[in-house]
Amino acid sequence: MTPPRRQTVTTWVGNVPVGSSHPIVVQSMTNTDTADAEATALQVAQLARAGSELVRVTVNTREAAAALPEIVARLHEVGIDVPIVGDFHYNGHILLAEFPETARLLAKYRINPGNVGAGQHHDANFATMIEVAKAFGKPVRIGVNWGSLDQQVLARLMDENARRGSPRSGTDVMIDAMVVSALESARYAEQLGLPHHQIIISVKVSSAPELWQVYRQLAPLCDYPLHLGLTEAGMGMKGMVASSVALSPLLTEGIGDTIRVSLTPEPGASRKLEVEVAQQILQSLGLRQFLPQVTSCPGCGRTTSTFFQHLAQQIQDYIRDAMPDWKARYPGVEDMQVAVMGCIVNGPGESKHANIGISLPGTGEDPRAPVYQDGKLLTTLKGPRIVEDFQALLEKYVEERYGRQEVGA
Ligand code: SF4
Repeated sequence: MTPPRRQTVTTWVGNVPVGSSHPIVVQSMTNTDTADAEATALQVAQLARAGSELVRVTVNTREAAAALPEIVARLHEVGIDVPIVGDFHYNGHILLAEFPETARLLAKYRINPGNVGAGQHHDANFATMIEVAKAFGKPVRIGVNWGSLDQQVLARLMDENARRGSPRSGTDVMIDAMVVSALESARYAEQLGLPHHQIIISVKVSSAPELWQVYRQLAPLCDYPLHLGLTEAGMGMKGMVASSVALSPLLTEGIGDTIRVSLTPEPGASRKLEVEVAQQILQSLGLRQFLPQVTSCPGCGRTTSTFFQHLAQQIQDYIRDAMPDWKARYPGVEDMQVAVMGCIVNGPGESKHANIGISLPGTGEDPRAPVYQDGKLLTTLKGPRIVEDFQALLEKYVEERYGRQEVGA
């Protein structure tokens, strides 16, 4: 059962609505030098094709700000119009004012209230960015981060805490400060004239229990859409597990309207992994469906070969590669269930429950692989071309089942 979402207003980021009336949005961030328009456009395109619905780029220098029009033009040339979000720190007020075309092309500005300047400059710099957002009708994300917390807010709350009879822990005060910083900044933006529905908030930390604490504290205090993410989640399996563990409880409580998984890519690995992990988190929780679900058994002593592991991997890769085309041609194909099972113990049963499933022969079993389609035995494959034969059956099934729907629609 899908959990009820925390009620929020809708914030339009370009052509993508973010808020509780809409599906949870997957977003990602590039790691190229934004000043390198060619490399950045290529990576944005890669992330968008992987399913990222918003892509953030850092806008940290004049060169980066100046490159934005070329990045957007290059993306349009290849038919990609994913909204681009600009990530600003320290000099956003200068860059947004100096590069109006960039300010116009960006779909949202990320503002970190801890990094907009200190003292009297803080409010003035923040106000400059909000004025630009107002002028171009853009939303902003007030993105508070544990590692760059607004020191004035933190000092104020620490002083107040010290005067208490029984002071709270340093972590609790830090979390209070993140929530206060986010909400005070959002209210200030509204006082400056930015409409209420043009504000998204995030309060990111790097540990799961603290992420739960800070978002649960913030969620009931406002109806701004919330951007959810564990900051600096880490690399590889550690980052994927940490992000899944951190985001899942909040998402099941209905908290979170857009997510990003901040993975450190392993050397040579594709940046799009963070998109795939974010999609898988939402899909595993039953919140969104992006890809057909491939159910594969873990394997055990009944199957001594790794053949079925390879088959499961190949089918998964085949589906992922085919999806951009399938999605366009076969509406509803993302709901398909595919089973790849290792032997007859659970194989036929699981395969019958899937739209299409194959049960491979276990050790000592007859070397045949029955294929079930919509609960019925379709055929039995054998010989060296089981993978190719099963892929052909899968392709035919998709065309017949979901293609018909397209024609009748
Ligand atoms: S389906 Fe067969 S091979 Fe797979 S885990 Fe179950 S018993 Fe083992």
